[in-house]
Amino acid sequence: IYTDFIKLRKFFKKSTKNGLLISIRSMASKTQVGFIGLGNMGNPMAKNLIKHGYPVMVSDVFPESCKELQELGAQILDSPADVADKADRIITMLPSSPNVIDVYTGPNGILKKVKKGSLLIDSSTIDPAVSKEMAVATEKLGAVFMDAPVSGGVGAATSGKLTFMVGGLEEEFNAAKELLSCMGANVVYCGQVGTGQAAKICNNMLLAIGMIGTAETMNLGIRLGLDPKLLAKILNMSSGRCWSSDTYNPVPGVMEGVPAANNYQGGFGTTLMAKDLGLAQNTATNTKTPVPLGSLAHQIYRMMCARGYASKDFSSVFQFLREEEGQ
Ligand code: NAD
Repeated sequence: IYTDFIKLRKFFKKSTKNGLLISIRSMASKTQVGFIGLGNMGNPMAKNLIKHGYPVMVSDVFPESCKELQELGAQILDSPADVADKADRIITMLPSSPNVIDVYTGPNGILKKVKKGSLLIDSSTIDPAVSKEMAVATEKLGAVFMDAPVSGGVGAATSGKLTFMVGGLEEEFNAAKELLSCMGANVVYCGQVGTGQAAKICNNMLLAIGMIGTAETMNLGIRLGLDPKLLAKILNMSSGRCWSSDTYNPVPGVMEGVPAANNYQGGFGTTLMAKDLGLAQNTATNTKTPVPLGSLAHQIYRMMCARGYASKDFSSVFQFLREEEGQ
């Protein structure tokens, strides 16, 4: 009886640490979920929550972005504060750190009306230091903040096959996973708050380096007289193979269904890649970690933004290299 008492006391302490609602909220399975930021990624992600039977409330600075969701039954609210007033589980999917700061701590931000015990999950790719700041501010109000950035583009968001990298309290992971697994095939716990962002930033730095390397290699092969399709085939059966060569080849005509086959429209924007490489640079500077290739990749993507590639997919680095060559 004494052991049971100790166990019960531990459970009670845990569930009251951030307000008693935590245990109630994580058990309340199909109650309202708030979703803020209905852009390229947020739109299909919120649709998948609806498909899984969750009543969804949405908000975006551009109310136009919410129209499709409204047709599927979502309720549109005016501000993040209004969402927080009505839902105790909220997902945010915003472009960058300043937007996240605004949506959480701004005059009409979530934290103005957040309920005790609420679970706030930010899936935007932002600076891990900002995730930590948001977690501290949220915790002061008796709620929980987790960072859960994603890997996989609009295609994976649409098919519900994203990978979520989650940072935050381990005892809250299952509550977050319940929602995230409606939108993703993999939901991975990374550690304390900010570690999801750390994993995401590392992945994207490698992705950019791999994409530039693939574009450079393909261009050299073409200059040496190789057929690009044949070269890609050889790379993909050899040690040079990588995601950028076999799944997202940057050379037009090599693969179908990739942005390179569609004048680099759609996909993952060069501006967003430049932003992620900037985050990698900041974190590398703060931790005194040498990342020379990451730094070079950052400069290349920044240059692309300044030369008209900002809204094109990041694989347009192939076209950028060809144009640079022609100058
Ligand atoms: P997006 O620009 O298409 O969408 C962002 C949405 O947030 C827009 O609808 C915008 O109106 C809204 N928004 C901005 N500020 C707001 C505010 N203050 N209040 C309410 N809404 C606001 O961006 P996206 O492509 O959906 O990317 C979102 C995040 O996901 C980014 O951090 C990006 O780096 C990351 N990501 C994107 C991809 C991709 O392939 N697009 C892949 C992985 C990760």
